[in-house]
Amino acid sequence: VSSTVSYNRVMLKISGEALMGTQGFGLHPPTVRRIAEEVKSVHDLGVEICMVIGGGNIFRGLSGSAQGMERTTADYMGMLATVMNALGMQSALEDLGVFTRVISAIRMDEVAEPYIRRRAVRHLEKKRVCIFAAGTGNPYFTTDTAATLRANEMNCEAIFMGKNGVDGVYDKDPKTNEDAKRYDSVSYDDVLAKRLKVMDASAIALARDNNLPLIVFGLDEPGGFRGVLAGEGTYTKVH
Ligand code: UDP
Repeated sequence: VSSTVSYNRVMLKISGEALMGTQGFGLHPPTVRRIAEEVKSVHDLGVEICMVIGGGNIFRGLSGSAQGMERTTADYMGMLATVMNALGMQSALEDLGVFTRVISAIRMDEVAEPYIRRRAVRHLEKKRVCIFAAGTGNPYFTTDTAATLRANEMNCEAIFMGKNGVDGVYDKDPKTNEDAKRYDSVSYDDVLAKRLKVMDASAIALARDNNLPLIVFGLDEPGGFRGVLAGEGTYTKVH
């Protein structure tokens, strides 16, 4: 691992929307490729990388159930959406010569590996990027919880949450409030007490109770992921 980067194993969480680019839906191949390049530049430093990608660019359980669908069915559709995103990212990374595995929380052996913890750890040791798909495999959860769960299971040193259009955690929505202030550092307890929009409460509790730090940074800046791993650029550390 490079002298400027002190991490050996990290989780990168991005939302499904991050893959959408300027489109209103789905995957935008040049955007997927750009994120894959960011991942490669960190992988090239020897850092072991886990990834969780959301599914909101394709389907969200809550919006399905709002339209009268059974919540659990809608959530399964959301989980399947994350598998599509994981395969899109796998394809882009392998195009750049980075070996990957897509590991699904829902068995679909023709498409992805099933989740077996010790096997996933071995992949990481062999420097394969592990993309964890299908969330936690359970309805009523989010991919933020999946990222926190897998980061704990894989003994990641931190979760890096790449955001679009925002470079950290603010005291109020920076898109609508000019005087919004970004935190350099904030505790999980404060995030919960002040209801700051970072992750959902179950993901925050799971990270807090296991002392897993979360670094929220902007995905828009090229080189942002690599920079933030070296402690450069703007970001918020939640701990
Ligand atoms: N989902 C789920 N269980 C999980 C993870 C995800 O049911 O463990 C479903 C849920 O319906 C969610 C959808 O998958 O709305 C997509 O995930 P998410 O909303 O977290 O994606 P993001 O907002 O990060 O793109």
